[in-house]
Amino acid sequence: MNNIAVIGAGTMGNGIAHVFAQTGHKVNLIDLSQDNLNRAVATIGKNLDRMVAKEIISEEVKNQALANITTQTDLKTGVANADLVVEAATENVDIKLKLFRDLDAMAPAACILATNTSSISITKIAAVTGRPDKVIGMHFMNPVPVMKLVEIIRGYSTSDAVAQTVTTLSEKLGKVPVTCNDYPGFVANRILMPMINEAIISLHEGVAGVSEIDTIMKLGMAHPMGPLQLADFIGLDVCLAILRVLYEGLGNDKYAPCPLLVNMVTAGKLGVKSGEGFYDYSEGIKMAKVSSTFS
Ligand code: NAD
Repeated sequence: MNNIAVIGAGTMGNGIAHVFAQTGHKVNLIDLSQDNLNRAVATIGKNLDRMVAKEIISEEVKNQALANITTQTDLKTGVANADLVVEAATENVDIKLKLFRDLDAMAPAACILATNTSSISITKIAAVTGRPDKVIGMHFMNPVPVMKLVEIIRGYSTSDAVAQTVTTLSEKLGKVPVTCNDYPGFVANRILMPMINEAIISLHEGVAGVSEIDTIMKLGMAHPMGPLQLADFIGLDVCLAILRVLYEGLGNDKYAPCPLLVNMVTAGKLGVKSGEGFYDYSEGIKMAKVSSTFS
């Protein structure tokens, strides 16, 4: 399991490529444009530099990691020799289903096809391939080089051998793999998103303001970040999309997204990435923004 193809060079893809390359794997990083790929490699370089400065890795490990990464815009060439593909493209079901149809046709027959999806059914993705036994969820956490967990999600048809291979590989990356079955939101988001949604409902109903809710959860529950700040960090559009998957997939009103979240996403207030969410990031300062319902 030495040749890894990582598809999508965004937030998650560059982190996934980083950890594979740093642990001695050959990585082909694939995206739609060379610009995206160049940006991702520059980010990986910066993150490796930071690790050298903190004496977490040596200069030699950094150089070897960078030498392990090649980039590619052509999917067919990019996966031609892959033992494992980790797909980390945009969270959109049509994009993922097309990619997995193509991957099934282009990747070697023995290649394992993993997806980093946060919420799309592994079984649904596997069903468009002729190798559903070799399709699995490999859900890394953001930021990938720092976070220890890999949630391993077994689709309905994922084989024991493939689950074992991916588990062992995750350990070689220095991660802690934990396995679950393929139901909406898997485990991490099934538990996290209702908490974030409840924090937004509490704000919406005027129970407390943004900083009060976050401070109560930080100091009271020893969470490193309050739920509203975390929602901004994840992206409010991503939170809304995952809540909709939970609501539709589990058919229970308790997962219905708060109308305030829906309004904020409709208004383009997506959190850190748009400069404003529950906090204002426009001048690099984090200030509570949505607190008008609390008096
Ligand atoms: P992102 O928007 O930062 O990056 C997605 C990248 O995929 C972009 O560079 C885009 O150009 C590329 N892409 C789109 N279609 C492609 C295609 N057909 N072929 C090749 N590249 C393509 O997204 P992200 O935040 O890195 O998320 C990627 C995946 O990881 C999603 O499935 C998401 O749910 C999951 N995820 C995200 C987080 C997070 O915190 N951001 C955490 C865990 C899992």
